[in-house]
Amino acid sequence: MTTTLIGNTPIRRCDFLSTLYCTNIFIKEEFHNLGMSAKDRPAFFMIQDAIERQRIQPGGTFVEASSGNTGLGITLIAKQLGYQAKIFVSKSCSQEKINTLLQAGAEIEICENSNGLHDFHSTQFHAQSYAATHPNAYFTNQYYNTQNIRAHYKTTGPEIWEQTAGKVTHFLSGVGTGGTISGVGRFLKEQRPDVCIWGVEPKGSILQHYLSHRRTPEKVVPFDAIEGIGRNFVPGSFDPQQVDHIFQVEQESTKAMARLYREKTGILSGFSSAALLASLACHREEMGFTPEHTVLLFFPDHGSRYVSKLYSDSADFQTATKTVIR
Ligand code: PMP
Repeated sequence: MTTTLIGNTPIRRCDFLSTLYCTNIFIKEEFHNLGMSAKDRPAFFMIQDAIERQRIQPGGTFVEASSGNTGLGITLIAKQLGYQAKIFVSKSCSQEKINTLLQAGAEIEICENSNGLHDFHSTQFHAQSYAATHPNAYFTNQYYNTQNIRAHYKTTGPEIWEQTAGKVTHFLSGVGTGGTISGVGRFLKEQRPDVCIWGVEPKGSILQHYLSHRRTPEKVVPFDAIEGIGRNFVPGSFDPQQVDHIFQVEQESTKAMARLYREKTGILSGFSSAALLASLACHREEMGFTPEHTVLLFFPDHGSRYVSKLYSDSADFQTATKTVIR
């Protein structure tokens, strides 16, 4: 069963960032998972839970609203276990992710936005309606399913604690559904209450405001597009108790950092991973790292999913030509 390929991803020290910020920076590389993203973890927990509780019968269809990564995890695991997958993605989903989902055997529908269940044009609304009107279809609903947080509490958190030998002082993660930061945050705070759990979201997203005021802002504005993170509603999978602070970043600085990181390390970071890099660059003073700190950056996926969005309009990009050498 290929679910053994989910979790136990490596962490790697990044010398470039450690030197730049005069501290110790490690990266947890989630693209080593089966579906090449962190979202395989909640996908597996949500599917296992639905099967155990007999919410779906063999051959049924798992339905999810996803920016692409959860959808791929759901599809790969569902197919392995003899189920189907129907995935609702928003029109901002990268072409690479759509192609991968189709190749994995998902049936997909593209929706206007992912603004939550109250919006009739959203991925969430369409996914819920589909599951309600089709027999033997189950909406995993990552935005509200408690298995999302649980997956990270049970697997990601303990891995980070063990891999840093309990030395982690700061954990940084993008926030989309909130599952990662809430689950990892809860686990790490139980081990070490003074650990800093910091989220990153695009400028205009509402969770920073919600965290400080415990209510949504009166005026909700469109937020910078950074795939996988940013919300204009508060998901049930976001637990503010586990989060100390949320930093906001702009799309332009995120793209710039993705390219700088590639130049310095040769590694293509994912879009939301680059948002973490932008948060370090833009909020350096506030973060106040010292050489005694151990900072863990959570990279949920890989830049190969965003070549068209992140890397292809840079001056040094060359389209590969199919010249046959003789
Ligand atoms: N980055 C990427 C690329 C993602 O796909 C997601 C999940 N939407 C996140 C970050 C945010 O993770 P979470 O949903 O656990 O907050």
